[in-house]
Amino acid sequence: MKAAVLRELGRLDIEDVSLDGPRPDEVRLRVLASGLCHSDYHVIQGDLPIPLPAVLGHEVSAIVEDVGSDVPGLARGDRVVTCITAFCGCCRECQTGYSHRCEDRPGNPDRETGSRITKGAEAVYQLSNLGGFAEEMVVHHRAIVKISEEVPAASAALLGCGVLTGVGAVLNGAKVPPGSTVVVVGCGGVGLNVIQGARISGAARIIAVDLNESQLAMAREFGATDTVISGPDAAATIIELTGGGADFAFEVVGLEVTARLALGVVRTGGTLVLVGIGSFSTELPLPITAFTFTEKRVIGSLMGSAPFQIFMPQLVSHYQAGRLMLDELVSSTIPLAEINEGFVHMTQGGVARSVITF
Ligand SMILES: [Zn+2]
Ligand SMILES: [Zn+2]
Repeated sequence: MKAAVLRELGRLDIEDVSLDGPRPDEVRLRVLASGLCHSDYHVIQGDLPIPLPAVLGHEVSAIVEDVGSDVPGLARGDRVVTCITAFCGCCRECQTGYSHRCEDRPGNPDRETGSRITKGAEAVYQLSNLGGFAEEMVVHHRAIVKISEEVPAASAALLGCGVLTGVGAVLNGAKVPPGSTVVVVGCGGVGLNVIQGARISGAARIIAVDLNESQLAMAREFGATDTVISGPDAAATIIELTGGGADFAFEVVGLEVTARLALGVVRTGGTLVLVGIGSFSTELPLPITAFTFTEKRVIGSLMGSAPFQIFMPQLVSHYQAGRLMLDELVSSTIPLAEINEGFVHMTQGGVARSVITF
């Protein structure tokens, strides 16, 4: 099969590779659509180091082609969406309803246990045990969820990471109550979904912040009531718009400067929600009194802060009821061969999501 392989940082090469399996607890998938996520971009750039060579891609809609002998509830022909938060079902986190935080993720087909993708004698690593920039995948059955065939393939792919992460941070992570004031710093693929999550939650005021005017135009389409260009005056503008600070501020970039901006525009007693992932080395040094004197809270949110196997079908219901904009997130569909150009477009702004279709 064809796959986009990362061998050297900076670019992907389309190669012919082999795919094994499935093992008894795995499924083989034919990929329909695969979204280009900022996290993939950070891996390509070396900000999030992984073993190489590797097949990236983790935001996938697919059709089940083959099912391992021990896999319950899935059959050939089912439409599914992948998620990086495969879960064991047995650990403390899984058993207390937080399988997105599973401490013993199954799968892990790395070099030691036997990569499912090979090229000759060479093992090719699957990012997050997925590897969605390829025509086919073999993944653990607890890394996918069956969804309605009514959702178009490219739109469905985005459910698996960007939509889940953004909307879930609001509904499940922060649990934003109706009537809240919400600031969203960073209006890329995930940020736009934080914005529509805030709209779905009934937030009274949603203030979108970005460096790029074209991203702010999209933010308004997704539900932002106000937009602010990022810059030296941004904090003062937001404080004025919110009458002293927002109930919630979401940081969706993963940089110290944007995290400081978001914390600075949270009102006394409000909540900063950290969603963005820039690199493993990004730090946020702050005086302890920034929290003791203000009772501001800081929470992190990972992959929608909920079990994806429960939350993904809820997102599909929001889409079917007209509350969740999915099709509008697909800025362009491109062939696998144009994947490098797709990532270049991502960095230029004006793009919600480019999606590879097969
Ligand atoms: Zn677990
Ligand atoms: Zn992602």
